[in-house]
Amino acid sequence: MLMLFFGTNDLQNILHELGANYKHELIGERLLTTPSHFAYFKIAEGCNRPCSFCAIPLMRGKHMSKPMEELVNEAKILAKNGTKELILIAQDLTYYGLDLYGVRKLDELMRRLSDVPGIEWIRLQYAYPSGFPMEILDAMNERDNICKYLDMPLQHITDNMLKSMRRGTTKQKTIDLVNQIRDKVPNIAMRTTLICGYPGETEYDFQEMKEWVAETKFDRLGCFTYSHEEKTHAHTLVDDIPEEVKQQRVDDIMEIQQGISFDINQDKIGQIFKVLVDKKEGDFFVGRTEFDSPEVDNEVLIDAATGYAANGSFVHVKIDRAEDFDLYGTIV
Ligand code: SF4
Repeated sequence: MLMLFFGTNDLQNILHELGANYKHELIGERLLTTPSHFAYFKIAEGCNRPCSFCAIPLMRGKHMSKPMEELVNEAKILAKNGTKELILIAQDLTYYGLDLYGVRKLDELMRRLSDVPGIEWIRLQYAYPSGFPMEILDAMNERDNICKYLDMPLQHITDNMLKSMRRGTTKQKTIDLVNQIRDKVPNIAMRTTLICGYPGETEYDFQEMKEWVAETKFDRLGCFTYSHEEKTHAHTLVDDIPEEVKQQRVDDIMEIQQGISFDINQDKIGQIFKVLVDKKEGDFFVGRTEFDSPEVDNEVLIDAATGYAANGSFVHVKIDRAEDFDLYGTIV
């Protein structure tokens, strides 16, 4: 039996061994695994950040931005084939361009993609807080087809945890950044992700996290228990928080967020939103507003008895009812 070994960036050689054409696979008609109306659009691979708990740089290597022309061409082909929403992903979107062009160019890429006919929504997933390029918010304000949405995993809030996590930021800088982003794009939906039970996280650290979550009122928030990954810097520390305490802390944070999400959603009752329909499930068409990413955020459930909405179409929906994480509405 012939065994071959490839690195994570060896796509060209893998395709060659499989008899596929590199240019066709990468630049040509891309096969979507999502419904055709939205696409996860990878703009870079790898990561240059030193986060202590994360094994991704070890597995994926250094940050490598895809050339802008290549991305614009890929977006044109996707749009031609019916893609309306590009969800820009990378381990760290905000680093885009630095390796390739010597400067951050995420704002320029956003504008170039926004010019592609047929692309109605562009969404940013996974921004890094340290060195955040504020100019991307100008692009967000300028262009109607750039969603006022930002997914920025912040991981923790206390200075000692952020320092041990090697996040290159502090509590005050984090608070200031969130305020600046909200000042610049007042109706932005911000999503973040947090880790509970990182080595050495004291009850005091956790209380501070709880207070900050309650005060900041993120639109969306995910929380995970710390996982002790081999070969990471944090693996040299003692994984000293018992699993049940980690889980209890996650549950406590999510309970706070549930209340925040419920209140935010109640304010949406009576408002009309542009909704992209993803699927039909039972008696409902299920879609999302520009403030929601697939799988992780709120869904808008439209009673199918009140009107028809094809998959991949945009409809305007008046919100009639709201729960913790979902909205119910009718087509107007
Ligand atoms: S957590 Fe994100 S930014 Fe930090 S090293 Fe991992 S992939 Fe990079």
